[in-house]
Amino acid sequence: MRGKVLQKIFPALGTVNTIALYGSFAPETAEQVKKRVLDLHRRFSLFEQGSDISRINEQAGIKPAPVHQDTFFVLFHALAYGRETQGAFDITSGAASRLWRDAVRSAKMPSEPDISGCRSLGGLADLILDKADGTAFLRRNGQQVDLGGIAKGYAADEAVRILKKHKVRNALINFGGTVIVVGREQKIGIQNPFQKSGVSMADIMVKNKAVVTSGSYERGFFFEGVRYHHIIDPRTGWPADSGLLSVTLVGDSAMELDALATGICVLGEKNGLPLLEKRGIEAVFISNDGEVKITHGLQGKFFLRSN
Ligand code: ADP
Ligand code: MG
Repeated sequence: MRGKVLQKIFPALGTVNTIALYGSFAPETAEQVKKRVLDLHRRFSLFEQGSDISRINEQAGIKPAPVHQDTFFVLFHALAYGRETQGAFDITSGAASRLWRDAVRSAKMPSEPDISGCRSLGGLADLILDKADGTAFLRRNGQQVDLGGIAKGYAADEAVRILKKHKVRNALINFGGTVIVVGREQKIGIQNPFQKSGVSMADIMVKNKAVVTSGSYERGFFFEGVRYHHIIDPRTGWPADSGLLSVTLVGDSAMELDALATGICVLGEKNGLPLLEKRGIEAVFISNDGEVKITHGLQGKFFLRSN
C-alpha cells in the first residue's frame, strides 16, 4: 500500500507479530501497541514463571490464583465460547495440548494411557472464576489452562483499540495469522495448507475487519503415514479430525474469531456453520482434500489463486 510509514515486528505470544501503520500518526503509537502486547504475553504465557496462567496451573487443585483483569476477561469469554461450541473450544484442555505439543516437538507418539489421562483432565466446569475476588481456580490437581487458541485474538483487538485511540486511520495487524485490517480495504492472503508457510491459496479483500485462520496443517508430525497436529479434540484427547485442514473467519472481534476458528477446526464445517450464521461471521473452509468453500458474504471479495 502507498504511504506506508512504519512497520514494527516483534516476537510475543509464541509467534511473530507485525504492526504496519499508514498515513500520519503519533510516533510513539506502534511502541505503545508493542508494550501492551508484551504485557499480555507476560500474563498469558504458559511458559513464563509467574504469569497468571502459570500460577493458575501450578495452583490447580490447591487454591485460587489472583489474576489481572485482562486474564480474567479472556478466561471469562473463553468459557463462554467453550459452552457455545459444546466444548470443542476448551481452554481447560491444556494437559492434552501440552502432551501433543511435546509429541510434535519430539515427533513421538504419546501413549494411549497418557492421552486418555490428559483428556480426563479437561473440563470447562472445573474452571471457577470469582469476579469479586478477581481469581481463577482449577478444581483438580494436574488440570491446565491454555490460552493459545484465543490470546492472539484478544491481543489484536487490544492493539486496534490503542491505534484508534491514537487516531490511526489505516493499519494492518498480523499476530501470527490473526489479522485485523484497520481502515481502507486491503488484500489478505490465505495460507495454502499444502505449501510452505507464506504461499497463499487465495486472497480476500477486507476493510475494517478481523481475519483469523486456524489450521491443523500447522505444527504437526507424521507417524506411520498419519498426521498428528496441535489442535486437540477435547472430547477424545486426540488431534482434531473433522475433515478440515483450515478455517478462516472474517468478522469484527478477533478474540471471538480466534476462539471459534479453533473450535470449528474441531467441530467441522457442518457443525460450525450454524454458530457463524448466528453471529454474522463469514468463513473460508479448506478440507483435507483441498476443496475450498466460502460463505455467501465473501462472494465478490474472495479470489482463488491459480498457482
Ligand atoms: P495457532 O494460530 O497458534 O495455530 P489456534 O488459534 O489454532 O492457534 O489455537 C491452537 C492452540 O490452542 C494450540 O496450540 C493449543 O495451545 C490450543 N488448543 C488446542 N486445541 C484446543 C481446543 N480444542 N480448544 C482450545 N484451545 C486449544
Ligand atoms: Mg484460535
